[in-house]
Amino acid sequence: MFATHRVFVFITILIVGACLGVPSFAQDLVPAPDRRADEGVGPFDQLVIKDCIVIDGTGAPPRGPVNVLIKQNRIEKISSGKIPEDVDHVIEAVGMYLLPGFVDMHAHLGSLQKAPEAEYCYKLWMAHGVTTVRGVPLNGNNEWVIKEKDRSAKNEIVAPRIVNYQRPPGNLKTAEEARQWVEAAPGQGIEGLKLGAYRPEIMQALLREAERLRLGSVAHLAQTGVAHMDAMDAARMGLGTVTHYYGHFEALLKDHVVQPWPTDYNYNNEQDRFGQVARLWDKIHPPGSPEWKAYLEEHLELGTVFDPTMTIYSAGRDLMRARRAEWHDQYTLPSLMQFFEPSRKNHGSYWFDWTTEDEVAWRNFYHVWMQLINDYKKMGGRVTTGADSGFIYDTYGFGYIEELELLQEAGFHPLEVIQCATMNGAKTIFDPKRKSIEFGVIQPGLLADMFLIEENPLQNLKVLYGHGALRLNDETGEPGRVGGVRWTIKDGVVYDAKQLLADVAAMVEAQKKAPPPAEASEAQKEASEEPEPAKPEAGENKQENDKTEEPDVEPSKPDKDQR
Ligand SMILES: [Zn+2]
Repeated sequence: MFATHRVFVFITILIVGACLGVPSFAQDLVPAPDRRADEGVGPFDQLVIKDCIVIDGTGAPPRGPVNVLIKQNRIEKISSGKIPEDVDHVIEAVGMYLLPGFVDMHAHLGSLQKAPEAEYCYKLWMAHGVTTVRGVPLNGNNEWVIKEKDRSAKNEIVAPRIVNYQRPPGNLKTAEEARQWVEAAPGQGIEGLKLGAYRPEIMQALLREAERLRLGSVAHLAQTGVAHMDAMDAARMGLGTVTHYYGHFEALLKDHVVQPWPTDYNYNNEQDRFGQVARLWDKIHPPGSPEWKAYLEEHLELGTVFDPTMTIYSAGRDLMRARRAEWHDQYTLPSLMQFFEPSRKNHGSYWFDWTTEDEVAWRNFYHVWMQLINDYKKMGGRVTTGADSGFIYDTYGFGYIEELELLQEAGFHPLEVIQCATMNGAKTIFDPKRKSIEFGVIQPGLLADMFLIEENPLQNLKVLYGHGALRLNDETGEPGRVGGVRWTIKDGVVYDAKQLLADVAAMVEAQKKAPPPAEASEAQKEASEEPEPAKPEAGENKQENDKTEEPDVEPSKPDKDQR
């Protein structure tokens, strides 16, 4: 049944593409199917989660057992007293932990080549407790995103809440053009800007207008533009969030104003691009130096948010682990896995001749990068969690949990990790709107976005992985798996997280049994290379077709035309 359905969807994509007489890139991702009657229950007039232990997301310690009363889609009351007589639904949660739903601050869906059905990503996120994703962008086709966002808001599909950030076109020529683009954005349902390292007058215009219109902003300050727009330059202009590491190290360079790249470096050679960046680790003012401290203090004063997405680059430290991660076999689509494998065509698949030296450089880089993030946290700076999944062996949902583990490695207490993943994400979404948070914390009055798990994630973050954590069962003497989210509640609707994961496994299994025909794969490859960019003002983005869907890596090549 499942297999038949998937094959049908796939063939439909091809047929429609063929009938229109256009290459299949005119097609977009397959929107999520309507939520079936057996997918999720609620919302209820009165739902009680009984006898759970609450980790509320603020950083407060766990407390329980308590009963959490939810009316429709809002948290009404948290108490240890008797539960009302007339409740519609009770979840017996003795020994279970209740956390706010996670917020993935750096999300993109797949592509026709990698993962054509949005349902695959949505269910992986929801199965890992992710109830909100900030798309940066979720998909470059803004109209498509608006529709999915709306369907998700109405709980017509099984999907996290969608926050819609989009990229301005990469070919903005003047500050006025930039300002006009931003001015039109709210009318297009755009909530924030995903920026690159634009040249200063353009960046200033974008950020000034965004601030005026209460739009959020997050930037990937790519190497191609970072020489004139590092993280401090951008923050001084009002940038909200620095995502990835780009721009931090360059602002801290000790003996140079640009990274001292090898003279045969070529940015378009992705092994250069991703291998050399790690060599920055010892070219900067060292951790703890006066320059290091001054850098972080100024960001703190400016209120910059750090969204490190450490998980997306972690394969560079130990490629073998990333390629063989336990979840790939059951939960990574073969087409996605194929995309990850060494290729000069696929973005982020830069393992042409990945060496011990490359991995050592990345390990050293992480050591310094983690200190930067942890020092910022210690000073009171805000850190959020984003995964940027869909590239570099980073599978949706699983990659997000790895980000949490990496924050602990950086020196965060698990309660601080949870705070980053919940409250901090929510604040970063609502602050630009100058509104208080609607989710991200388990407290009365907020939306019922949360999840339940049978293990204590503070004791071991690995229990949050969908397939659970490995643990020796001393009664049987056999290793077994524990944890994995049990129930994900979004907007008061209760989903069986294990079933969501089983649905994903079935999608993977179906694709293994009926792989896309070879010619289709080729068509799809072309497709994913020319995605439709965002269109706040029709016609403005036509020139931006190079790798726009490759989020993490290439914002929009703002400076490509400026050199
Ligand atoms: Zn990205």
